[in-house]
Amino acid sequence: MSIVLAQRLAQVTGSATMKVAAEADRLKRAGHSIVDFGAGEPDFPTPARVKDAAKAAIDANFSRYTNSMGIPELREAVCAQYKQNYGIDFTPAEVLITNGGKQALFNTALALFNPGDEVITHAPYWPTIPEQIKIANATPVIVQTRPDDGFTVHPDQIIAAITPKTKAIIINSPCNPTGSLTDEAAVGAITEAAAARGIWMIIDLCYEHLIYDTVPHNLPKLLFDRHRDRTVIAGSLSKTYAMTGWRAGWTIAPKDLTTAFNVIQGHSTSNITSFVQKAGVVALNGPQEGVTEMLNEYRRRRDAIHGWLTAHPGIKCVKPRGAFYLFPDISDLLAGSVRSSADFAQGLIEKEHVAVTPGEGFDAPGYLRISYATSMEQLREGATRILRFAESLQPAKAGASR
Ligand code: GLU
Repeated sequence: MSIVLAQRLAQVTGSATMKVAAEADRLKRAGHSIVDFGAGEPDFPTPARVKDAAKAAIDANFSRYTNSMGIPELREAVCAQYKQNYGIDFTPAEVLITNGGKQALFNTALALFNPGDEVITHAPYWPTIPEQIKIANATPVIVQTRPDDGFTVHPDQIIAAITPKTKAIIINSPCNPTGSLTDEAAVGAITEAAAARGIWMIIDLCYEHLIYDTVPHNLPKLLFDRHRDRTVIAGSLSKTYAMTGWRAGWTIAPKDLTTAFNVIQGHSTSNITSFVQKAGVVALNGPQEGVTEMLNEYRRRRDAIHGWLTAHPGIKCVKPRGAFYLFPDISDLLAGSVRSSADFAQGLIEKEHVAVTPGEGFDAPGYLRISYATSMEQLREGATRILRFAESLQPAKAGASR
């Protein structure tokens, strides 16, 4: 008997990133030696002091419900960190602790978007962003960015996409999957246009501490100065402190909207895991050197794998400025039965046991997303296998062109 699903799911597709992660996991469990460039998550362990705080909280029986907004100490720690990093002031009443950046954005979509609303964002995008907009019955409006200028978001293109139906603009910087940064001038121009029309600005800053060069990127201050009453910031512990599985993130938003987020969260998940919150306080309030050490290591890895892959004439790749993904254009390699980047990714995992996420999931057919948050040995091995797979397609290509 077929199941009649709710209509809101008619246009929604499952998470492309989660699908690759599950497939890689399945093959690993079956005993295959998989080089996993799929899921975007640090391979570093969570810092010991953070783990110890969680263990101590469990031992102290900190195991009951908390306030669904999150414990006050953690919301205060978010306030203190943004004050220190960006010079902005807000109160714990403007912070809600969420199950990762994903729930931060989901609460925002459910609280703000109505059927018929348009929400502008930029592609290639993290697949969850447009799907959440659709779950809220609103319409994603996609502005394409291009590799020839490093996937830069141009404010004039975003502004040109505004219509009377535009409810919000979502900017993800550093961007998953492209690693591009949307600079202050661009966000400033977009914010001016949004402020003039009462449009919400939603900034996904989940990779905020993974920026390789010292460039100004104080988007929170800029938004607070110009458009505070219609700004939502989404943040996360996942990437900064190697805590993806702990599920801890937050929104920073006007108090009344935060109260609405709490209505949604109070009827869905309630608080995030109690002892994770105690660990989160220690992550945010403690020494931050570990964050820089991880960033330095990601930079070495980025440079290495970028160099190895782009040595192949069929692979074109922008060097990312942030996050930990390479997003190469492999369209020149497509040949024979490997007609799309989805085919390429499928062949790569079947023949060479390398997991990558195909560009189709990011609205970028012809590309692959390679997470380089893994060891140098795995990167070297994976690059060797990718290049071997690319070479294996060449005879078919030569044959096809004759
Ligand atoms: N940053 C992760 C990725 O893109 C998140 C996975 C997800 O939840 O979609 O791989």
